[in-house]
Amino acid sequence: MSEEPTTVATPAEMRMPPRTMLVIPCYNEEPGLRTTAGELRRILRQLIDVHQIDARSCVLFVDDGSKDGTWGVIRALHNEDPELFHGLKLAHNKGHQNALFAGLMHALHSPADVAVSMDADLQDDPGAVGAMVEAWREGAEIVYGVRDNRETDTAFKRGTAHMFYALMKGLGTETVPDHADYRLMSHTALEALAQYHESNLFLRGIVPSLGFPTAKVYYKRGERVAGESKYPLRKMVAFAVQGITSFSTKPLSLITGTGIVSVFVGITMLIYTLISVCSGNAVAGWGSMMCSLWILGGLILVALGIVGEYIAKIYIEVKARPRYIIEETI
Ligand code: UDP
Ligand code: MG
Repeated sequence: MSEEPTTVATPAEMRMPPRTMLVIPCYNEEPGLRTTAGELRRILRQLIDVHQIDARSCVLFVDDGSKDGTWGVIRALHNEDPELFHGLKLAHNKGHQNALFAGLMHALHSPADVAVSMDADLQDDPGAVGAMVEAWREGAEIVYGVRDNRETDTAFKRGTAHMFYALMKGLGTETVPDHADYRLMSHTALEALAQYHESNLFLRGIVPSLGFPTAKVYYKRGERVAGESKYPLRKMVAFAVQGITSFSTKPLSLITGTGIVSVFVGITMLIYTLISVCSGNAVAGWGSMMCSLWILGGLILVALGIVGEYIAKIYIEVKARPRYIIEETI
């Protein structure tokens, strides 16, 4: 009698340990970069030792046109360990999102299986990379690093962040709350990302719109290792506006809506004024003023809204986003 083999989801069905590339955008990070590099090396070695990642895994630092000695540090790190530390230097400071995109596209054209993006200041706990890789091995193409609390933030930053997520959701854009740019992307996901040609990048909106199986890994966000934040309030507000305007044309539709409401108020005013004039309760000229104010104002807003709707269409067309992304062909 032969025994039936039992079928369980064995690790044999899991993907092989991936060749991993950590992508780190750096802007004026000279003070803390060596500490970060040391920590990343420690984590990668650990993961290599337990066969969670491929031994040829590496770190890619993207120097976003720093004005301090960041590139010098990256160069020195590369000379000390050419296999482990790689560098990419942008000619100008183009901002975190563009630097990250440059690094991810570099990873796409490298032999890496997965790219993990994280900040240079160790605020994104590198200890979570293991869990992210595990989620990829189980089938996820995108793994989001999500902070498990916002205790290290001021009440103001926490409040505004949650307002922002709610607003984005209301405007019809999918974002992952409490997730910044700490995430793992597979080769397949990077190929899809490469089809987005817009220069107003908002990766937190684009990546969830790619589709594919995703997973979340929770981590504790720490304090900045050295130096200061490159995201003052001014830049944060600009980034939020960027997020809204590059994903939603609803603000333009709002103009049309306001205009229509205004026209209706105008019509009501018209009736009210007619009654007032007929019953002799009105000063001369008041009636015509009130009606033209509301009705004309409304018509102007509606007209603006219509122009806006066409501009929205043009905007969507010029972004030339892919119409669809193929996940698999058999
Ligand atoms: N960064 C960048 N270009 C910039 C600004 C920031 O590459 O123009 C990098 C920065 O070096 C860091 C990451 O983006 O690795 C996040 O910046 P930061 O830590 O200052 O932002 P915060 O964590 O305070 O929001
Ligand atoms: Mg930071």
